[in-house]
Amino acid sequence: MDDYAAYQAVALSVRDRLIDRWNATQQFHSSKDPKRVYYLSLEFLIGRTLDNALLNLGLKGLYKRSIGEIGFNVEDLVGEEYDAALGNGGLDSLATLDYPAWGYGIRYTYGIFQQRIVDGYQTEYPDYWLSFGNPWEIQRLDVAYDIRFRGYVNKYTDAEGSPRFSWEGGEKVIAIAYDYPIPGYGTKNTINIRLWSSKPTTEFDFASFNEGNYDKSVEEQKGAENITSVLYPNDNHMVGKILRLKQQYFFVSATLQDIIRRFKKSSRPWSEFSDQVAIQLNDTHPTLGIVELQRILVDEEHLSWDEAWDIVTKTYSYTNHTVLPEALEKWAVPLVSDLLPRHMMIIFDINLFFLQKVEKLYPGDRDRLRRMSIIEEGHPQYVRMAFLAVVGSHCVNGVAALHSELVKTQLFQDFVELFGAQKFTNVTNGVTPRRWLHQANPLLSTLISEKLGGNSWLRGRLAEYISSACGISVSPDALFDVQCKRLHEYKRQFLNILAVIHRYETLKAMSPEDLAKQVPHVVIFSGKSAPGYYIAKMIIKLINNVAKVVNMDEKTAEHLKVVFIPNYNVSLAEIIIPASDISQHISTAGTEASGTSNMKFVLNGGLIVGTVDGANIEIGEETGDDNIFLFGTLAHEVEDIRHQQTYSNRSSRDPKLEAVIDSIHAGHYGDAIIFEPLLNTLNNDYYLLHKDFAAYLETMDKVDECFKDKSSWAKKSIHAAASMGKFSSDRSIKEYANRIWGVKPLRVE
Ligand SMILES: *Cc1c(COP(=O)(O)O)cnc(C)c1O
Repeated sequence: MDDYAAYQAVALSVRDRLIDRWNATQQFHSSKDPKRVYYLSLEFLIGRTLDNALLNLGLKGLYKRSIGEIGFNVEDLVGEEYDAALGNGGLDSLATLDYPAWGYGIRYTYGIFQQRIVDGYQTEYPDYWLSFGNPWEIQRLDVAYDIRFRGYVNKYTDAEGSPRFSWEGGEKVIAIAYDYPIPGYGTKNTINIRLWSSKPTTEFDFASFNEGNYDKSVEEQKGAENITSVLYPNDNHMVGKILRLKQQYFFVSATLQDIIRRFKKSSRPWSEFSDQVAIQLNDTHPTLGIVELQRILVDEEHLSWDEAWDIVTKTYSYTNHTVLPEALEKWAVPLVSDLLPRHMMIIFDINLFFLQKVEKLYPGDRDRLRRMSIIEEGHPQYVRMAFLAVVGSHCVNGVAALHSELVKTQLFQDFVELFGAQKFTNVTNGVTPRRWLHQANPLLSTLISEKLGGNSWLRGRLAEYISSACGISVSPDALFDVQCKRLHEYKRQFLNILAVIHRYETLKAMSPEDLAKQVPHVVIFSGKSAPGYYIAKMIIKLINNVAKVVNMDEKTAEHLKVVFIPNYNVSLAEIIIPASDISQHISTAGTEASGTSNMKFVLNGGLIVGTVDGANIEIGEETGDDNIFLFGTLAHEVEDIRHQQTYSNRSSRDPKLEAVIDSIHAGHYGDAIIFEPLLNTLNNDYYLLHKDFAAYLETMDKVDECFKDKSSWAKKSIHAAASMGKFSSDRSIKEYANRIWGVKPLRVE
């Protein structure tokens, strides 16, 4: 038996125990019928399950011994599991804190692409994560719903003479449920993530078949399976693909049918729906759920518009994840009308009633009506999904204090004036300590209350990984300087690599005596770019080109190595994060909503180099200013600086950065032509790299000074890690439960 076979055997035995608890939980919840919270997300990232399940079930010790007796090592088996690149700390906390909660999502056939680096460039490969089967999912052929697309709207008059609408015809596909049990830590509570997969309707099109149209009937079947085939990577960038809109409706339709079926079991009146059901929209992707519930209540359950709308708005709440304009979802009206004709009518009606309310409060203020309309005027018109989510929810939250402030003052300013500030709130993100401390860093987790000692081992583990994955040898004694996150201009990996070039060229120019005094750095990058994001991909290419030059240079070999580790995912994060000394969270102020990896790094004893942005600010409040390296422009200064840069040219350029740019132009890091478009972004410099460059270099110098004093560094590290309690997702989830959902823990007996 090999390790993979042993992993499968162990996984199946753990799965049996999970299913027992899961059944007990569901039965208990059915008998008590409490208010439940439903967390809707199109981007669950589950990560590896075995290790987490063993920990939460309290079975780690037992399995370690038993597996050892038959000649296997539990860590090796855990490493065999495929990383279902689908993690969500929220669900782990919901289960741990005994909430009656469900997660809903899509079972994508292909998860986020696998990244390989070829000649320095990112290339994408499909991630067929189900190829060896998946022991953690339970197929539920008994839970299936029809989903309709297209067709037409039938207007008719009912027996009482009232006008009514029904949605008819069109195409149907079937949604099949797959369940993933999520065990809580130290509790029997085992909640469920239900992921939907599309299947063709079993009514094979025999008419087409008999006409000799075998192609067409088969094609329809293929079409149905395509809906859930591929994940659109969330990358703070709107992609207006029709398949994505189909996924969104497929998802909310199946989910609402499931929620309503469960609600109807208890024969309560509709007026009690929002006492029993809270639905959380994770970003705007599931916003059609607002329209779908209104449609079901009005068209199928025959409630009045106002009764229905009251229920809808009491049920839903919405989490905003970005204020970047290019990331805000909007869908062309003709596209929505074609795919979902009845929903488009309902959106226009929701907007009409909403704008009537605005007009009443601000008579004649036509500019306000234009600004606030759910429909953006133009050719074509667009549906603004974030506005629809705000209008259809009772509560809107951002994910860090600064972000929530920007949500109120920039994005939804008019809505705050209209609805009042109490509808808008902040819930600072958190990360689950089960995965990001106990599982990623078992040594620190056992040593945290004792003396420091596990740290060099963790750097050694990463050094080994870098050697085998990238063929680069790095010293575990160097300062490990890490930036791992999605590649994006706003996150400024570009700023980091430009500063690395500056460091390299400074080292090269030094005398041997001066060189010997410098702190050695291993600079580690990892992260995926959206496949179509040209500039981000050129940043990856530049990093790899710089790495190639730097790593071959014997003069600086003891003092600088640059590594790009391909295919960043949760499993890799679990290796990289515990080994970091500093990590970089250097987004242009006001652009990063919260960040969560900043929390993971500090929890693991790393220190942050960061801008005054997102959750960095609150992390600094907890650690104290001495245990975090903050620098750069403040959020409220950004707009004015951009304006000045546009109108007063040259003065805002940094001389050291100009020297680095010249060096790239001179071809020191490969063919300069290919980097022209990337370097040109520094002319408008929307993300303020010139403005922040000098402060960034100064801060990195300060880091080096501090790192030389090992004992004071260890003190900072311990102090910072020990002050991270606030950033547990347990705290976030309690805030959502108490302040937004109105759900209470229910201890499974
Ligand atoms: C935590 C995490 C992220 C988020 O990183 P940020 O720095 O907060 O953007 C991205 N990818 C993976 C694999 C993670 O574990």
